[in-house]
Amino acid sequence: MTDRNIRVRFAPSPTGPLHIGGVRTALYNFLFARHHGGTFILRIEDTDQTRYVEGAEEYIMDSLAWAGIKVDEGVREGGPFAPYRQSDRKEIYHRYADELLGSGDAYYAFDTPEELERLRHDYESRGETFNYGCTTRMTMCNSLTLTAEEVKRRVGSGEHYVVRYRMPENEDIHFSDLIRGDIVVNTSTLDDKVLYKSDGMPTYHLANIVDDHLMEISHVIRGEEWLPSLPLHVMLYRSFGWDAPLFAHLPLLLKPTGKGKLSKRDGDKMGFPVFPLYWPYGETASGYREEGYFPEAFVNMLALLGWNPGTEQEIFTMDELIAAFTIDRVGKSGSRFDPDKAKWFNARYFQMKNDEELTDLFMPLVKEKGFNPDRAVLVRIVSLVKERAGFVKDLWNEADFFFVAPESYDAEVVRKRWTADSPRQMTELRDLVGGVQPFVPEVLEKSVKEWIASKGYNTGAILNLFRLLLVGASRGPHLFDIAALIGRVETLRRLDDGISRLSAQTR
Ligand code: GLU
Repeated sequence: MTDRNIRVRFAPSPTGPLHIGGVRTALYNFLFARHHGGTFILRIEDTDQTRYVEGAEEYIMDSLAWAGIKVDEGVREGGPFAPYRQSDRKEIYHRYADELLGSGDAYYAFDTPEELERLRHDYESRGETFNYGCTTRMTMCNSLTLTAEEVKRRVGSGEHYVVRYRMPENEDIHFSDLIRGDIVVNTSTLDDKVLYKSDGMPTYHLANIVDDHLMEISHVIRGEEWLPSLPLHVMLYRSFGWDAPLFAHLPLLLKPTGKGKLSKRDGDKMGFPVFPLYWPYGETASGYREEGYFPEAFVNMLALLGWNPGTEQEIFTMDELIAAFTIDRVGKSGSRFDPDKAKWFNARYFQMKNDEELTDLFMPLVKEKGFNPDRAVLVRIVSLVKERAGFVKDLWNEADFFFVAPESYDAEVVRKRWTADSPRQMTELRDLVGGVQPFVPEVLEKSVKEWIASKGYNTGAILNLFRLLLVGASRGPHLFDIAALIGRVETLRRLDDGISRLSAQTR
C-alpha cells in the first residue's frame, strides 16, 4: 500500500542518550511509514535549553543509523519542511503564540517563580496541590486580572512573562487513540499550561503541535508517557482550527521484574544495556552495539516488545517487519523487557551467519589478542565452535585453546581422572600420536581408539585425560578435530607438558 500522505515523526529531545524505549518508538514510526509507503521524519525537539545535553543529538542520529532505521526527512537529511531542529525554527512559534493571545485562548502571566513556589508550598502544607487553572487564574498576576495598559507596559518594558493556554472550564473533550480507543477528559481537571516564554522559546506543547501541523504529520506515534498531554494537544488543534493527526500511544517498556517502567538507570545496575550505543558523556553507560549485538537482532527484539505479528514467527528481517507491522497489533499493556530474550535473539542471528561472515567478524578480535592465523584455519575453528556461541566475542572463550596452550588444568578433572597409571598411559598415547599418518581427525581417532581397545583401557578416562592435556579442561569441540588443527608438534608439546606438570603436581 502506498500512501504519500502518511507522514510520521520521531521527535526526541536531546537531553541525553536515547533509551531503548525511544528506539522502539522510532522503529514503530519507521515501520508504519514504510508499510504505507509514507515518510519518516526525525525532528529534534530542543526548545528546553536547560535540559540540552551536548552530544545527544548526534547520538540519536547515530543510534537510528546503526539500527537501520532510515530517516527520510531530518536534520542531516534535509527535506521540504526544513529546518527540522526546533531551535532553528524559533521565529515560527512566536506567531502562533500571538494568534492564541489574539483569540483569547491564551494569556500573558507575570507571576514570578518565587510567587508560584510560595503558592505551591502553601497548598502542599494544607495537603492540596496548586494548579494554575480555572479555579486560580483570576487571583493571579496575568492579563486576565491586570488592565490592558498595564499588560502593554509590562510586555513593552521587557518584563519576564509566560504565555499560558486558557483551558476552558468544565467541558468534556472527546478524542480517540488508535491503541487505547475513545477517551473523554473534563477540562476542569487540566491546568493552564505554559506555551511560550518571553525569552523567545516555546514550550514542548506549542512547538510540538505547530510543527506537527506545519510538517503535515498524519499520525503521532509516541510513548504512553505523553498521553496526559493529549487533551491539551487536542484543545490546541481546536483553538488553531486545524485538523488533528491521529494518535497512537505505545505501551511502556517494563523492568525485567515486570514492576515499573524500565529506566535509564536500570541497565548497568541490572547487568544489561538500556542504550543502543555506548554513551561516553557524563555517567557513561554500555550500549548494545559495543556489547556485540547485531543491529538486526536488536531491532527484531525491540519490534516484538509491544507488537505481535499474530503468528508464532519470531525472527523477522526489517523487510518482513515492514510488511507485517500494523498499529492494531500493538498491545495496550506494558511489555516486560527480558535481557535473556535479547541474548537469545542475538544468538539466533549469530547462528544464521555463515562461517565466512563470522570469520570476518572474529579475525580482528583474534589479531587483537596477538595472533595472526591463516584465514582457512580460522574458518575451520569458527565452524567447530560456533554452535556454542551467541556473540562474536564468545568465540574467543570457546576457541582460545587453539591459540594458547593450557596454563593450568581443571582441578576437578585432575582429581577424578589423573591416577598412578596416567603418566605411563599418556606417554604411550604420546608415542602413538607421534607416529600417526596422516595427522587428520579420522585417522587419529581410529588409531587412538584401537590402541585403547588393545590395552583394555577405559575409553572415557583416556579421552578425558587427552582433552585435559590439550585444552586444560573438559570443554571444546571434538577432541580429534582439536588435535588435528593445532597440529602434531603442538599436540606432542601439550602432551609432554601435561605429563610432566601433572606428574610433578600429584607426586
Ligand atoms: N520531545 C518529546 C520527547 O522527548 C516528543 C513527544 C512526542 O512525540 O510528541 O519524547
